[in-house]
Amino acid sequence: MILISACLLGINCKYSGGNNKIKDIENLLKKEVIIPVCPEQLGGLHTPRNPSEIIIKNSKKYVLDNKGNDLTMNFIKGAEETLKIAKFFNIEEAILKTNSPSCGFGMIYDGSFSSRLIKGDGITALYLKRNNIKLYNEFNYKEKLK
Ligand code: SF4
Repeated sequence: MILISACLLGINCKYSGGNNKIKDIENLLKKEVIIPVCPEQLGGLHTPRNPSEIIIKNSKKYVLDNKGNDLTMNFIKGAEETLKIAKFFNIEEAILKTNSPSCGFGMIYDGSFSSRLIKGDGITALYLKRNNIKLYNEFNYKEKLK
């Protein structure tokens, strides 16, 4: 059983109202049960919504949208709910969308809304990682199939 960012499966939960479908990821269905999740929707955010990025202020992490609204609590709630689902199904692996302030890990947008990337993890990715869930993204998930 594997947890997957819902937008990678073609669910229109992306901030723009669209998705990030990767056709090949669907092929995993032949081998496993897939649990699609969108942490931002689970955190109570609407779709479509403004894009958000993580910023660090006074050593604290916040998630702001591009209009300056503080959505940190929504992102934390989304991470908590996603982790709850992962624990419910005893999930050990997840495939998460790169660079997102929720699902991204390793590299995320830098908070300037200018498509620049910095090292870091999205809020949900961090929660899953801290709970020993192995993370893949839409580029390296095939390693899992080997
Ligand atoms: Fe996709 Fe994750 Fe963003 Fe939802 S929160 S749209 S699943 S990247």
